[in-house]
Amino acid sequence: MSTRIIPVDAFDFVVFGGTGDLARRKLLPALYHRMQDGQIPEGSRIIAASRDELDSPAYRSLVLGAIESSVPDDVRDTELLERFLACCHHVTVDAGSELGWAALADLLAGREDRVRAFYLAVAPRFFGPICERVGQSRLVTPKSRVVIEKPMGRDLESSRLVNDAVGAVFSESQVFRIDHYLGKETVQNLMALRFANALFEPLWGAAHIDHVQITVAETLGVGGRGSYYETAGALRDMVQNHLLQLLCLVAMEPPESYTADSVRDEKLKVLKALRPITIENAAQLTVRGQYMGLSTARDRIPAYTEEAGVARSRTETFVAIKAEVANWRWAGVPFYLRTGKRLPSRVSEIVVAFRPIPHNIFPAGSGAVQANKLVLRLQPDEGVKQWVMIKDPGPGGMRLRHVPLDMSFAEAFGIRNPDAYERLLMDVVRGNQTLFMRRDEVEAAWRWIDPILEAWENEGTAPNAYTAGTWGPTRSVALIERDGRTWHEETV
Ligand code: NAD
Repeated sequence: MSTRIIPVDAFDFVVFGGTGDLARRKLLPALYHRMQDGQIPEGSRIIAASRDELDSPAYRSLVLGAIESSVPDDVRDTELLERFLACCHHVTVDAGSELGWAALADLLAGREDRVRAFYLAVAPRFFGPICERVGQSRLVTPKSRVVIEKPMGRDLESSRLVNDAVGAVFSESQVFRIDHYLGKETVQNLMALRFANALFEPLWGAAHIDHVQITVAETLGVGGRGSYYETAGALRDMVQNHLLQLLCLVAMEPPESYTADSVRDEKLKVLKALRPITIENAAQLTVRGQYMGLSTARDRIPAYTEEAGVARSRTETFVAIKAEVANWRWAGVPFYLRTGKRLPSRVSEIVVAFRPIPHNIFPAGSGAVQANKLVLRLQPDEGVKQWVMIKDPGPGGMRLRHVPLDMSFAEAFGIRNPDAYERLLMDVVRGNQTLFMRRDEVEAAWRWIDPILEAWENEGTAPNAYTAGTWGPTRSVALIERDGRTWHEETV
């Protein structure tokens, strides 16, 4: 296995909010690793634009700190680090006033023919004003792109406003809506498994698949992000984007080709085929939860309301949904989705559960024949496990065992497992939108989410309480057990 470097020309990468948490923890380390792999050509520049009053040397100290705290000592290289710092610049810019825009324009001037990426690592309320000023300052060139992060609105209407504001300055082919789950190795592998093997596709549908589970579990609480979380909740923060994107990749028809619009056309069809959840059926198909605190002999885990700083809150920190893709391929196959904070382990995975065998030929003492499962794990250890029945080796008659054919990517290929941002940032530079969401996808996702939010609002009840460190409210277990199924054991 070798890393393949697709060469690019020198580029300018402008990070609005380049001093913030996202830039320090994700964007700068990702760019550092791309330089380490030889993918950032000489002359490229990382230009941070933020409200902080820093000159470029002071910004380089901040970058140094960011790299030191996220890149392990043994991977750091002094010469490389110096080269990386030398390409970092900072301009003090205010999204809401004239401050700094002329300086930014001066810095960019004369490089109009190179790729220019604008990454908006700032609060969403600045997306519109920044795009407007980028336009007014005449910074948009034919090779310009803009990258926006979630949250892209908090419902269909507000998401349209964000898209309109960005779309007033950039054409759709220049807009990169990032969902870092799509940059994960396992997610790419889901596409490879489905569309580069003859093995899975004939089985991929209601005739052979019993159900699908998608779990994105976090152990942490909201911590210092309480005021943001109060405006979002798990449905908006995780389901509308990450979980629905994963569902789309499992459920979509084979695209005509592995190109941005073919893939996104197929994902859009899945979103449109999701059976609506409304006031009439929300109580049966959805579960909301909110974590309570937990005191142990050694410490105390605060409740959501303590962390968010609000005594009474109906914001959900857990959600489980039984979804259905109402089309020929998937009719009747439930897609169980769940995500939450303060759960027992940090795990993101997709479980494709196949139907049981139609008839068991083995004698009673052979052991139970369990149905096949394909488990795609996105984190913590990315990899794929295909659970199959085998004969226990050795003499002693036929004894059956359910075992995983395990492929942990990092181990199997002996490579560093790159962070999703590394791939995605370079896709921005290359202009490849395949792993980014198109406007109509984001809006179709909100179109399915909005009625759920309305139904919950209409119920007027608080989310079900669950104790921190458990798998959510008991109603989540009931949601799947009612159908004679259980949440996949490895995650429980
Ligand atoms: P942050 O508060 O740490 O940083 C905000 C940045 O915006 C700073 O650089 C600040 O100087 C700049 N800024 C603030 N006001 C400004 C103004 N008026 N003009 C110009 N710059 C201004 O925020 P963050 O955690 O880095 O998040 C940035 C965005 O990314 C948010 O939309 C967030 O929801 C999203 N996001 C963050 C993460 C993460 O891991 N931090 C993950 C996913 C999405």
